[in-house]
Amino acid sequence: MQQNRRNFLKTSGLALGTVLGSSFPANIFSRGISNTMKSSKLQLRFRPYTLELKHVFTIATSSRSTTPVMLTEIEYDGITGYGEASMPPYLGETQDTAAAFLAKVNLSQFENPFELENILNYVDAIDVKNQAAKASVDIAMHDLVGKLLNQPWYNIWGFDKTKTPVTSFTIGIDKPEVVRQKVKEADEYKILKVKLGRETDKEMIETIRSVTDKPITVDVNQGWKDKNFALEMAHWLKERNILFIEQPMPKENVDDNAWLTEHSPLPTIGDEAVQRLPDVIKAKGVYSGINIKLMKSTGMREAYKMLLLARSFGMKVMLGCMTETSCAISAASHLSPMVDWADLDGALLIGNDIFSGTKIIDGRVTLSDKPGIGIVKL
Ligand code: MG
Repeated sequence: MQQNRRNFLKTSGLALGTVLGSSFPANIFSRGISNTMKSSKLQLRFRPYTLELKHVFTIATSSRSTTPVMLTEIEYDGITGYGEASMPPYLGETQDTAAAFLAKVNLSQFENPFELENILNYVDAIDVKNQAAKASVDIAMHDLVGKLLNQPWYNIWGFDKTKTPVTSFTIGIDKPEVVRQKVKEADEYKILKVKLGRETDKEMIETIRSVTDKPITVDVNQGWKDKNFALEMAHWLKERNILFIEQPMPKENVDDNAWLTEHSPLPTIGDEAVQRLPDVIKAKGVYSGINIKLMKSTGMREAYKMLLLARSFGMKVMLGCMTETSCAISAASHLSPMVDWADLDGALLIGNDIFSGTKIIDGRVTLSDKPGIGIVKL
């Protein structure tokens, strides 16, 4: 038993703790990292890229057919970590703002790439906001550190990769005949996600229910303005096998959202209201759970802290995404064994992915065994 435990410590993700402490795992020495650490420099590179969406995507406030992203690489000692910032226009970041932010990031001042807390605190302090740009550095650093340790992040965090959830698949708002067709095309997915918050809410649900009885999650994107109407809708949805309601009312209406959560027969999930770690504290008592997204949280490190904090409050946790390549989706997926629900369909919605990593197989989030965030460049 003692021997098994030692072997486990040597080969598992707990390696990170040992690297920061006194005993380095053997594989680190054998790869010579410790000898070259002081002379190597962290080098950040970035370039813009445009994701082409397979279908025009419509939510309560807008429609679009592309998503601008920024791809990052951080190289250290001949090993490269990959990252990504996805910037749907309504979040306020652009390729120009990301480039301006990333140009200010000087990682060469850090001699030890394992000091993620120091490095990412420095990046966060460069400027306010810029969450996606910050996430692109955070993800590349995590990919790099995982590769240096030769371990995937689910192991470093100590999560069981067999416990990943199924992902929901989003059906955009459209005409009934198009919605019915989209539902048929989504046959592989076990849970459907539907965007509500328009006049046609009941029609959307009835249309989908005319072709399938699969569980549905709904995202209102702050679209309901009245708490009594919202509660009426919650009861109506409960009778139609809906799992939860994401961001039912405007995030500013804290008391109304809290009232709805107290009375609703379905759990409520804060999304727009919950960006970063301090927002989890504010969401306690207002929503049943939170939706964590790397592009809001500034990346994997803060997302992990948010997950643990929400759990300590007894709150539900959902893991979401933007339209992203398999780079950012794979990064998020390492947290997925610990969440109640995943909405990680972002890479399935684009036609020009340039990474392969975490896959959706038979509807389930399926992690690769590769180190870091587990991706290869296509
Ligand atoms: Mg949402």
